[in-house]
Order: sequence, then structure tokens, then C-alpha cells
Amino acid sequence: MSLLEQRYRQLRAIDANDFHTCFYCGCIATEFDFAPPKAHWQSFQYRQLSADNLQVPSCMECIKLLKGCTMGLVQQRRELVHTKIASKYKKAIGVFLRWNEDELEELDFSLHHSIAAGLKLGEESHRRSNYVGFSYEIDGAKATGLVPTAAPLKVFGEQYASVKDALVAVSKSYRINQAKLVEGMAKHDNNLEAVVMAWQQQQQHAMFQRELRKQCAAFAKQHKQSHRFVVNEIERYLDKDAELSIADALDKLYQERVKHYQPLVK
Ligand SMILES: [Zn+2]
Repeated sequence: MSLLEQRYRQLRAIDANDFHTCFYCGCIATEFDFAPPKAHWQSFQYRQLSADNLQVPSCMECIKLLKGCTMGLVQQRRELVHTKIASKYKKAIGVFLRWNEDELEELDFSLHHSIAAGLKLGEESHRRSNYVGFSYEIDGAKATGLVPTAAPLKVFGEQYASVKDALVAVSKSYRINQAKLVEGMAKHDNNLEAVVMAWQQQQQHAMFQRELRKQCAAFAKQHKQSHRFVVNEIERYLDKDAELSIADALDKLYQERVKHYQPLVK
């Protein structure tokens, strides 16, 4: 047994479909990554730091992304790879999340071409940066309990296999532009429910403002008051009492401020 074999045990796929697959991103594996890196093995021993001491099937790009990474646990190394892939292909992933295949037909040639390329690269990068690994054995012993499963994404009680699936479905059922949802996810810690609720609140607020302007304009015209004055007064009433409807507030304004001065206005 070589020194290397004594130090590192090999992580091997159980299912034949996963042979020669990068454990970090799911691409074709041509190399091995070492957790911790060979040059740091001794240092981990001396300092008794937690290390998997595993030799992990890996693709060339993941090896490059892990260059300089001294982490000793496979899971830590995987998380770093995912962060780096997500950042390196951020633009393409953005295209993939915002656009759908069926929208391409409507685009002119050059945009069609660039969006189609972005969709393909983005889909692959998104999949790689969320890859959960495969069932494996170490030295012939099945590593039970370590079999990876992707947690299904739940949005308002519905389960989705991927973020993209959730975006498409939510965009359809709530009639919110998919690009707007993606934008919102960046602001709301990737919480799609929070994005939808914030959007609905915003819509309600906009609707209320439209209604407020409309009713105040009608009132101002009817009672020959300045529009600005009416809006300011109504907003004051509504601020003080959240239960009040716009109509209630207008009635209050009429009773308290306008009625008595009617004779003065000609
Ligand atoms: Zn890889």
C-alpha cells in the first residue's frame, strides 16, 4: 500500500450511472480532488483538524476552482465549488431563470441567438451549482446516511423540483413577470413567497393610491376645494385611523371642515 493510499480512502459511486462523475458538480470526472489537499494532510494531522481524508472524483474545472482551497471536508469543498460556479456563470444563470424556451421565437435573430446560448449555459451552470452528489461507498463500505437528496422547493404549499420550475409556475399563477421574480429573489434572500407577498402588497398600495386620487379629485370638484388640500387632509385622517375607508375619511372632511364654509364658496 502506497503512502497516498494509507492517507486517503477513495470515494466511489455505487450506481454505475455515477461512475466517472464529478462528485461536486456532476460533470464528467477526469481527475481526483483530495480533501484536504495532499500538501496539507500533515498539517491537519498535527493540528487534529477535522478532515475527511478522501480522494474524490472531480472534473477539471472543479479542480481549478478549488485551487488554493485548504478545506478538509468534502462538503465544505463542494459548497465552495457551488459558490464559485454560481458566481462565474452568474449572467448565464440569470438568463436561464428569467427566460423560457417558448419565448425565444418572438425574438429577432441576434437576440434569439444570444439568449438561447445563455439559456443553455445557464441551465447547465445552475444544475452544477446545485448538484447534491451521488450515493457512494468508501473502501467497499456503503456510506449510509450520506446518500444525498435534494430538498424539494416548497412555495405556498406546492412542491417544485427546481427553482426554475417554481419561477415558471409562480409567474403564471400570480401573473408576475418572471424577470421581476428573479430580481425580487435577490432582495428577499431567495424566498419566493416573500417576493410574491411584497409584490401583492405593492399592487394593493398602488391600487389604493389610484382610488385615493380618483375619489379626492371627485370630492374636490364637487365641493370646489383644492385637490392638494383634499388629498393632504384625507391622508392625515387615514394615518390617524387605519380602520377608516377613503369614503369615511371624505365624509369626515366634509362634516368637519367643508360643510360650514359652503356658503363662503361661490
Ligand atoms: Zn466538477
